Amino acid sequence: MATALRDISHKIAGAPGAPAIRFGDVFDPNSGRVQARVALGTATDLEHAVAAAQNAQPAWAATNPQRRARVMFRFKELIERHMEELAILLSSEHGKVIADAKGDIQRGLEVIEFACGVPHVLKGEYTQGAGPGIDVYSMRQPLGIVAGITPFNFPAMIPMWMFGIAIAVGNAFILKPSERDPSVPVRLAELMLEAGAPEGILQVVHGDKEMVDAILDHPEIRAVSFVGSSDIAHYVYQRGAAAGKRVQAMGGAKNHGIVMPDADLDQVVSDIAGAAFGSAGERCMALPVVVPVGEKTAIALREKLIPAIGALRVGVSTDPDAHYGPVVTAAHKSKIESYIQMGVDEGAELVIDGRGFRLQGHEEGFFVGPTLFDRVTPAMRTYQEEIFGPVLQMVRADSFEDALRLPGEHPYGNGVAIFTRNGHAAREFAARVNVGMVGINVPIPVPVAYHTFGGWKRSAFGDTNQHGMEGVKFFTKVKTVTQRWPDGGGTGDSAFIIPTMG
Ligand code: NAD
Repeated sequence: MATALRDISHKIAGAPGAPAIRFGDVFDPNSGRVQARVALGTATDLEHAVAAAQNAQPAWAATNPQRRARVMFRFKELIERHMEELAILLSSEHGKVIADAKGDIQRGLEVIEFACGVPHVLKGEYTQGAGPGIDVYSMRQPLGIVAGITPFNFPAMIPMWMFGIAIAVGNAFILKPSERDPSVPVRLAELMLEAGAPEGILQVVHGDKEMVDAILDHPEIRAVSFVGSSDIAHYVYQRGAAAGKRVQAMGGAKNHGIVMPDADLDQVVSDIAGAAFGSAGERCMALPVVVPVGEKTAIALREKLIPAIGALRVGVSTDPDAHYGPVVTAAHKSKIESYIQMGVDEGAELVIDGRGFRLQGHEEGFFVGPTLFDRVTPAMRTYQEEIFGPVLQMVRADSFEDALRLPGEHPYGNGVAIFTRNGHAAREFAARVNVGMVGINVPIPVPVAYHTFGGWKRSAFGDTNQHGMEGVKFFTKVKTVTQRWPDGGGTGDSAFIIPTMG
């Protein structure tokens, strides 16, 4: 007799919400089996979450920021205490190896640490004596109810990028996580309750397009933060903005690593192997394109990359020796494999073919072997589009200027890296490259939590980055007060011209 699947429910006002009518499958990518089913919510489920948020948010906003920070401190401690459990859960639905799952949680936790300093960041600005007897001050106030819609590839970090700051500054936050690995976001909401946040301050509603549209159209939701693929990001940006919301929508990526002739090639190969194949390439800051500058660099790099890629160990996500695990679903595996075929058809040289990879004992798992293409050209579709798998493409450049132009002209502009020992070349590159985040001998230049994260071009719609002070700005609105306390000796004259301080 088949055993019933585990149900993954919403977290609305601290409870699972009404029974679902529709469900989505959640896979175990290691075995290929369905391991649970997640509720796919409706506009009615969202209404319940909004009502709970409306109940809770005014008192939360009125709580002094130091008390809200204390909740963040307790949340941080709880995450640290539950790190092992969360990492295993995350890895079991996503497929990334456990050490990488801990990195996912840790990078989110760093935003929570930033949020612990919320009393400081909300202090506002003050000018004494801006005019005769006039002082001006400004304050940042929460928006009210805000929402986040997140992708499958960082089910802990990206929700924490958003709700860590949104809640600390006094909003109520409704999270719609990816339906492919929804369990960790629910645990995060449970731990936030345990940390002392009132019910209704962090809620989780699961779902697909139906729920996303309900969020985008809901008049009480003031802002939407989105991370996912570019077409959906663009859609979310347009529909949310049309409904009068503040929207930031981060999209896909195709990050380049430029290798200058003077680079330390052994270091570069080890950096690129990790950045291209870690998490099976399912990172928006992965490095799937490597650009050696000059023929000699290309030949030497290729010679070193082939054995390094050959030595990569693909295994189940619980294997402590595996460099990377399976990709998230069978559909994603076949999409990656069809891009590999497209690369062959387009005339790129397939140096290492990861298709048909089968792990003994896990033949139905969603594994894709590491793949290397050489002689990829900018006109190829496989170069222009995001593959989001363990596929590294080598595009040869003749000169620094050619290399600089490649990421600059690419439709995506999330991250880029240059490997060199030449400070002048690195400085020129950082100043001129048309991309949002730059690494200099750093293959995955994800900024720390107190700086901000965001790409350019098709990698981000809207003009505010994630976390750091940009996150605070996104989740608050500024109020500016101009005050005068007359001493009773005024003339009573009206001013009919615009007042100036001159
Ligand atoms: P996705 O776009 O498929 O899904 C993201 C979210 O949108 C999910 O919550 C999903 O339920 C929802 N969604 C999916 N289809 C929708 C539709 N038709 N209408 C409305 N909502 C819809 O992305 P994914 O596959 O989960 O994540 C991988 C993508 O995210 C990659 O493109 C990756 O580069 C990108 N990403 C970007 C960043 C960044 O900061 N720029 C970070 C991580 C991931």
